[in-house]
This record gives sequence, structure tokens and C-alpha cells, in this order.
Amino acid sequence: RPVIILIIVLIAIGIVVMVATAIIQNKPLHQKYKYGIVLDAGSSHTSVFIYEWPAEKENNTGMVRQKHACDVKGKGISSYSGNPAGAGSSLTDCMAEAQKIIPVHRHQETPVYLGATAGMRLLRMEDSSLSDQVLDAVERSLQTYPFDYQGARIITGQEEGAFGWITVNYLSDNFRKASGTIGALDLGGASTQITFVSKENSENPENSMDFRLYGNPYHLYTHSFLCYGKDQVLKLALAKKLQSLEMQEDVLKDACFHHGYKANKTLSSVFNTPCVSEKLADSPKSFIHWGTGDGVECQNAVRKVFNHSCCQYSTCSFNGVYQPPVEGHFGAFSAFYFVMNFLNLTNDDLETAKAKLINYCSTPWEEIKSSYPSVKEKYLAEYCFSGTYILTLLEDGYNFTSTTFKNIEFIKKIADSDAGWTLGYMLNLTNMIPAEAPDTPPLPHG
Ligand code: AMP
Repeated sequence: RPVIILIIVLIAIGIVVMVATAIIQNKPLHQKYKYGIVLDAGSSHTSVFIYEWPAEKENNTGMVRQKHACDVKGKGISSYSGNPAGAGSSLTDCMAEAQKIIPVHRHQETPVYLGATAGMRLLRMEDSSLSDQVLDAVERSLQTYPFDYQGARIITGQEEGAFGWITVNYLSDNFRKASGTIGALDLGGASTQITFVSKENSENPENSMDFRLYGNPYHLYTHSFLCYGKDQVLKLALAKKLQSLEMQEDVLKDACFHHGYKANKTLSSVFNTPCVSEKLADSPKSFIHWGTGDGVECQNAVRKVFNHSCCQYSTCSFNGVYQPPVEGHFGAFSAFYFVMNFLNLTNDDLETAKAKLINYCSTPWEEIKSSYPSVKEKYLAEYCFSGTYILTLLEDGYNFTSTTFKNIEFIKKIADSDAGWTLGYMLNLTNMIPAEAPDTPPLPHG
């Protein structure tokens, strides 16, 4: 008898375990969502974004949301040109996180895309076999995961601009509401993009993109300025100073850095980029970067990175690039947001922002450091320059006025999802934005 009772008890336990497992596996949560992964391989860092959307409603608009973002440790993939395998292994922590966050039964059907931006465009200009090796290494790494790997490629500046515009308007639900769209301003380390709907007929086809989304046609103006991201433009500005008379006895006096700031820098840290074309002859190997903290002088120096002398169109932004007058409201994200938010200028008009920035730039370096002990010193040293660059780019570069500057909103996220090109890129490649014009299929990946 005891044996029979034991067998019955064991069978009962078995049944309970099986039922519990079935219930857990059928948890509605597990079946409800689908997922997609996009890696933004930027010039200074890589971020891994996980998106989710209701499984049964994937063609509805406004349904895709960012579930998680992971910052890859270390620098951007283009910095691994001397050790391509390192670019691949840098991704492992964030990809392991993705494996934990996405339910196992969805892994196989979850697409993974990697898009590299201006840091890799520059590496390709310098040495295309090196950029290929880095892309191969990240590809090999991404192929080891159980997801549906879709490719790793360098996206064009036009794509970066247009998909950033799609992202911010998708998240704001502007397409479905047909309420008018907002323009997109994106600032990275190596390039910057401006994208907006324009009434003007484009005078240069390279700057125009036409989309049909949710039954409405959109005529976009877009341009990406390679080398005008904030890290590359700093090198450009330093190189211009080094080439001019301002350098005396290895000391470079710089109004865009705080009074009391002093750092030993190598010349190669300035000239190690295709963005700086003229090299210095007969010069020392290093120099002392010496802050003088003068906001007005900094503005004048920054203006010199924009060339306004050549324009073969009716209107230009700078460097001979066609741009119609800015129209409507804009969302300004990535480094536009980081810098303006740090400087507490996101709610100011242009004149107030300029005045506050001049005051900030004149604050001694020691005072800045002790006021912001937890902020990375590299960022901290550069906010005066970056803020001045941003205001000058918007006013002198893109021709925003005191009036139209009020139409710019500095944003990091919309509806809990980061503003940036990645979401728009995935929506396009997974065909999740309906009513594309038949003659504009999704841009190929790879
Ligand atoms: P990318 O890596 O090309 O996407 O560029 C991002 C830019 O934003 C780089 O210039 C970074 O140095 C900069 N950045 C990121 N986080 C911050 C921050 N908290 N403050 C200032 N700049 C930042």
C-alpha cells in the first residue's frame, strides 16, 4: 500500500509541475510582443537598442517602443582599427543582456541590424580595408547569437538624417494624425544632420528625399555634414588655430576653454583625421592647450569653421551646401540635447542662451571642476566650446533666427524612446510603416 500511495503522490506532483510549466510558458506576456535589435555604432560609442511591439498589431502605427538601451563599454567601433577583433568582443555584454530581456521563444525571429555612422565613414575614407575588417569582426560577433542577424553596414548621411526624422515623427504620432511634422536636428561626434519638410523645390537632388507614409506624401530636405560633429569640429577649430599665428612657443591660447585650463596635447591628436586636410610643417610634436575663457572670442573663432563664400544655389547653409529656409518646429537630439541640457539652456531664447553661455565660458576651470565633480572631465572641459558651436551652427550655419530658434525643442526621448536614427531604420527595414509609395521600397540593408 505505501508504495502505491507514493506512486500516486509522485504522479500528482508530476501533473502539478507540468500544468505549472504550461501556464508559465503560455503567459500572455510571452506571446504578446515581438522584438527587434538595432546597434547604433556611433563615432564615440555603440548603443544597443531593443524595440518591442504587440505581436498581433505590428502594422499599426505608434506601436513600436524602445524596451531597453545598453551602452557598450569603451569607445566606438572605428577606434578598433588596430584591433578589429576587439570591436566584435566589445558587444558581448550588451548582447548577453538582450538575450536575457527577449523571451527565448522569440530569439530566432528577432532581427538584428548594425548601422555604423560617421566615425566609420571617416575610417573608410582613410583606409577602406580597415573599415571592412572592423565590420567583418562585428558581423562575426553578432552571428554567434541566437537572433536573426540581418547585417552590419555603414549607413549614409542621408539615411541617418531621414531615419532620425522618421523616428521623431513616428514617436510623436505625427504621421497618423497627419498633423504636420517636425524637423530633426542630430549632432554626433563626427557628423551632424538637418532634416525637415520643405515647400521649396529642391535645387539639389542629393538633398531631397520623398516618402509616402500612411497615405501622405512628404518632401524632405536632408543634409549630413561629415566632420561637423562636435569632436571633429573641435579638431578642425584647433587645427585652424595651430595653423594661424596664435601659436607661440608651443602654447595654444584658446578662448573656448576655461581660464586656468591647461593640458599637454599631441599634434597628432588634432591632425589624425581626414577632416583636417592641411598638415602642419616644421612644428613641435606637442603643444600646451591653454584656456583663456572668452565666450565672445570663442564665437568668432567657431564662426571660422563655416565657409560662406561659395553658394551656387538661391540659398545655402555653409560650405556651398544648398539649404532652403528652415520651416516649422524642430526636435534637436543626441549631443544637441546633452550639451544644451548640461548648460541649462534648453528653455532659453537665443539671446539669453548666448549671454548665459558667455558667462559660463568665463568661469574659471577650477570653479567648474569643483561645481561638477561627478561629470567626466573630458565633457566638462568641452561644454563651453560645444555650446558655442551649437548656437553658431544653428544661427550662422542653418540660418535660424531669434524667432525661428524658439521653434527648436531640445529632446532626449519621446514617449520613453530615444530620439535617433535607429528606430526609423528598423521600421523601414521591417516594413512597419505602411503606405510606402510603390516606387520607394525599403532601402536595402547590406
Ligand atoms: P556619436 O558617438 O557619434 O553618436 O556622438 C555622440 C557625441 O555626444 C560625442 O561627441 C560624445 O562625446 C557626446 N556625448 C555623449 N554623452 C555626452 C554627455 N553627457 N555630455 C556631452 N557630450 C556627450
